[in-house]
Amino acid sequence: MSTHSETDTKPDFTQPASCVEGVTPGRILEDHAPKGVPMKDAWEWQKDHYNLVSPLNRRKFRILVIGTGLSGGGAAAALGELGYDVKAFTYHDAPRRAHSIAAQGGVNSARGKKVDNDGAYRHVKDTVKGGDYRCRETDCWRLAYESVRVIDHMNAIGAPFAREYGGTLATRSFGGVQVSRTYYTRGQTGQQLQLSAAAALQRQIHLGSVEIFTHNEMVDLIVKEEEDGTKRCHGAVMRNLITGELTAHTGHAVILCTGGYGNVYYMSTLAKNSNASAIMRAYEHGAYMASPSFIQFHPTGLPVNSEWQSKTILMSESLRNDGRIWSPKEPKDDRDPNSIPEDERDYFLERRYPAFGNLVPRDVASRAISQQIIAGLGCGPMHNSAYLDFRDSIERLGKDTIRERYSNLFQMYEETIGEDPYVTPMRIAPTCHFTMGGLWTDFNMMTSIEGLFAGGEAGWTYHGANRLGANSLLSASVDGWFTLPFSVPNYLGPLLGSERMAEDDPDAVAAVERAQSRLDKLMSIKGEHGPEFFHRKLGDILYYCCGVSRNIDDLAKGIEQIRELRKEFWSGLNITGNAEEMNQVLEYANRVADYIDLGELMCVDALDRDESCGAHFREDHLSDEGEAERDDLNWCFVSAWEPNGENKFIRHAEPLYFDAIPLQTRNYK
Ligand SMILES: Cc1cc2nc3c(=O)[nH]c(=O)nc-3n(C[C@H](O)[C@H](O)[C@H](O)COP(=O)(O)OP(=O)(O)OC[C@H]3O[C@@H](n4cnc5c(N)ncnc54)[C@H](O)[C@@H]3O)c2cc1C
Repeated sequence: MSTHSETDTKPDFTQPASCVEGVTPGRILEDHAPKGVPMKDAWEWQKDHYNLVSPLNRRKFRILVIGTGLSGGGAAAALGELGYDVKAFTYHDAPRRAHSIAAQGGVNSARGKKVDNDGAYRHVKDTVKGGDYRCRETDCWRLAYESVRVIDHMNAIGAPFAREYGGTLATRSFGGVQVSRTYYTRGQTGQQLQLSAAAALQRQIHLGSVEIFTHNEMVDLIVKEEEDGTKRCHGAVMRNLITGELTAHTGHAVILCTGGYGNVYYMSTLAKNSNASAIMRAYEHGAYMASPSFIQFHPTGLPVNSEWQSKTILMSESLRNDGRIWSPKEPKDDRDPNSIPEDERDYFLERRYPAFGNLVPRDVASRAISQQIIAGLGCGPMHNSAYLDFRDSIERLGKDTIRERYSNLFQMYEETIGEDPYVTPMRIAPTCHFTMGGLWTDFNMMTSIEGLFAGGEAGWTYHGANRLGANSLLSASVDGWFTLPFSVPNYLGPLLGSERMAEDDPDAVAAVERAQSRLDKLMSIKGEHGPEFFHRKLGDILYYCCGVSRNIDDLAKGIEQIRELRKEFWSGLNITGNAEEMNQVLEYANRVADYIDLGELMCVDALDRDESCGAHFREDHLSDEGEAERDDLNWCFVSAWEPNGENKFIRHAEPLYFDAIPLQTRNYK
């Protein structure tokens, strides 16, 4: 078996030139995983060799955790329990409100309790293959190994997982796998995990080891460049959303667990408040942004029913265990679906991918549904969806069993769409759901700025170009509970004795002034439109140019349109009220300004990456069978972006190596 050191030195790796004007190839990045150790053993080795901080010294280190979702809540609680001086921040009024609470379907773990021949190797293989080989294999081993502890831990701190008759924890299957490794709490898994994590965090707050700052939004970072050019993070600037006050908080390390940026598309399944501002501030300070165009479109979103709709809603992937996806064979077939005879239905996933059928990975399912819709075979009043039909499973298993498995999802569907899915097939359509891209981090979850870490959906490592269902609650939990509490102390150990930056240090004061002047600039525009006007326009551009499928012309056009939109925004924005009070229009405008810059970067990344991989489906890179075609010779690396002045970007590259899971073409047939 090849070892990491053998593969790591690929001396001939060079980055391809870019076809995008303004893009310059930059450095080759080092992942800081151990050398000479097989990838599958790298995490154990790394943990064994991490620096430790003795219990009596831990309280001398202050750690700021931004975000209290599943990843941040876990990290803050674990570091607090270990004895560090932790400050945790969230813009919500309580940690339990984080977007993680919305997750429905389940959380993966290769505990192999179902005796279906599952194990860590299969979990890693499914994750790496599912991500179309654009993730870091060493991190995926960590994900699989620690998944066992995640389930035991969350079970122990109160998550009421579903159980089998005999009391053991129950599992079900999710897309892209042929085993049953998804643990769940009916259709409310995220809710129960988040409540358990928030309760653990609350306990630390009560004990005094964690100080919580609710209604506090991070609006800048305190980053200082040292004499040798090293950038180091010393803290963050927070805006109190009730009073408008800006405050500098300093620490020895800062962890960003601020969630995903799917709302850049305006409509997505994410909570309306989820945003990209924290990671964009880090990006502007020099933390590289990895694979920003790797976006997951979930195949089982509820279709858009009106142009005034402000978000889309998810129907959990777990429904694909028992629901069959089909569309009518005839275009614009407006008959009642139950009256469409069997031979006039096309169960296109079962037809095209017989081995995995309705449980193909999300990118494959979303593309297939989009292709049906584009071919005129969409159903529903706007002909923009496919059917997800439970008729056969209700006949086979009975309505009670289906109700037991999915009752809250069926109820949600009926309340939203006004149709009873026990009787009439659901209608579903692809919608933006998850961001595989995020801040680039090394094997220790540190960004390219020393002392600045990222975890959960704000980071990038595990999911490559397509995330498998139920792997994200897992990655957020693994990061929060079982990675950052070891890797952050490893960074802190050698800093013992160094004072934390004073809160009135000139660099901290300058950061507050920078944040204030950005808010002042937004307030001073006095144009005609509120932020939603620009956000909606950006969403339309991105869905069209950088959506389920992409092509060169539309991406190039998208970049131009977004640059134009940026000019319109900075001259036409109007914010009511003032900055020294609660002002949700200002909060939103600040986020939209970042979405515009991020949207541009996403299109640049998508145009630059001259291949198809996973959810990045380029119409000019298709196999003979119309599937995504990777170019491993030139593009088997992660793009990590740095801004380089107006309309200019540096593309750094981390080459990707695969050890136990050799490169192969994905095949779900
Ligand atoms: C509808 C839906 C269903 C899903 N279902 C599943 C599922 O079944 N299984 C699965 O594995 N995954 C699922 N996912 C994905 C999964 O829920 C998320 O990836 C995961 O919960 C993200 O956790 P997180 O800790 O990274 O971020 P979040 O839970 O989004 O938390 C972000 C935190 O950061 C804070 N924050 C953000 N910006 C700032 C700022 N500037 N200043 C201060 N605080 C800030 C927020 O207040 C919040 O506390 C689902 C996603 C959606 C949208």
